[in-house]
Amino acid sequence: MAEAAAAATSGKVVIRNIGLLLSGDIDRPILDADTIVCEKGRIVAVGKEADCNTEQPDLLIDARRTCAAPGLIDSHVHPVFGDWTPRQNQLGWIDSTLNGGVTTMISAGEVHLPGRPKDIVGLKALAITAQRAFDNFRPAGMKVLAGAPVIEKGMVESDFAELAAAGVKLLGEVGLGSVKAGYEAREMVAWARKHGIQSTIHTGGPSIPGSGLIDKDVVLEADADVIGHINGGHTSLPEAHVCELCEKSSRAIEIVHNGNEKVAIAAAQMALQLKCPHRVILGTDGPAGSGVQPLGMLRMIALLSSLGNIPAELVFCFATGNTARLRNLDCGLIEPGRAADFVFLDRAQHTAGRTLLESVQLGDLPGVGMVMIDGVVRCGRSRNTPPAMEVPVVVQ
Ligand SMILES: [Zn+2]
Repeated sequence: MAEAAAAATSGKVVIRNIGLLLSGDIDRPILDADTIVCEKGRIVAVGKEADCNTEQPDLLIDARRTCAAPGLIDSHVHPVFGDWTPRQNQLGWIDSTLNGGVTTMISAGEVHLPGRPKDIVGLKALAITAQRAFDNFRPAGMKVLAGAPVIEKGMVESDFAELAAAGVKLLGEVGLGSVKAGYEAREMVAWARKHGIQSTIHTGGPSIPGSGLIDKDVVLEADADVIGHINGGHTSLPEAHVCELCEKSSRAIEIVHNGNEKVAIAAAQMALQLKCPHRVILGTDGPAGSGVQPLGMLRMIALLSSLGNIPAELVFCFATGNTARLRNLDCGLIEPGRAADFVFLDRAQHTAGRTLLESVQLGDLPGVGMVMIDGVVRCGRSRNTPPAMEVPVVVQ
């Protein structure tokens, strides 16, 4: 299992001969460009090869006309420590997910930790420890944004100030702890927001024995920044209530793999109908009772594009740029200044689709040919996806 220091970045990286460049930007999902230049782990230029300074690279990659997209961002995971999950007692799940094209994962709470503390001092200590641990250690190079406390009754504003001062930037899913009433959640979410901590609320029925129902009225009253797994995790609210949430709230609409797939499609289509596709973000909600899905993000993209009849290039934005913008991340978009986090894709061998985008719209998963984080190649041809027709090569 590859370990990389958080600060590991590259020198000058030139990626040429890109066949399709997906930007991650929902307003302009496909760029008319074939070259990306990066310095010190950041994108410095995107354009036609003749217009970019491609001289003297430390790393030159020939994309061989494959597709370059921003590394996928899983908006909803439940990590614990390192590359281990107690939920399915599995090692290497993060490394496996990197092979599914994901470069950033966002914790919705380290809730699976055996013996997870629920007292206020303990939950704060766990959040700070998880934030530090994943900041110091990136399994397989994956950026895991963790340290997401599950709020409990009795917390006061100074607890949120203290967490923020210690570097905590996220709340775990509101509703997984003892705070389940709308008015109580609303007060704590507002304290979190005031101190720069972003919040997510659990939506729908209980996930596992011990968690509870959060209905649409509680979601609306709590007003968390992200309507977490709006399609349930697994059990969904009635479809009409999910559509009502899309309409009445202006917050992020998070759709997950470990949820109700029919309602996933309904929520995405509702967002398009309401002309707010920029609010849709995707996650897996793994590890879960259903297991760990290293290709969960790609499966969500194929599901929404094929059965939801949404152009594949837009759905890729749900999994990249939308999440980056709504969560203030420096990755997720292919534009100068952003982190050099990419996934290289091609249509899978023997798909009926003639192009990558057509294959996804037909419901097939794409093949991952390479994943790069901060300008460093983290894997070549994926060990998990169906084989891509063509893969990028390192020229020098
Ligand atoms: Zn949940």
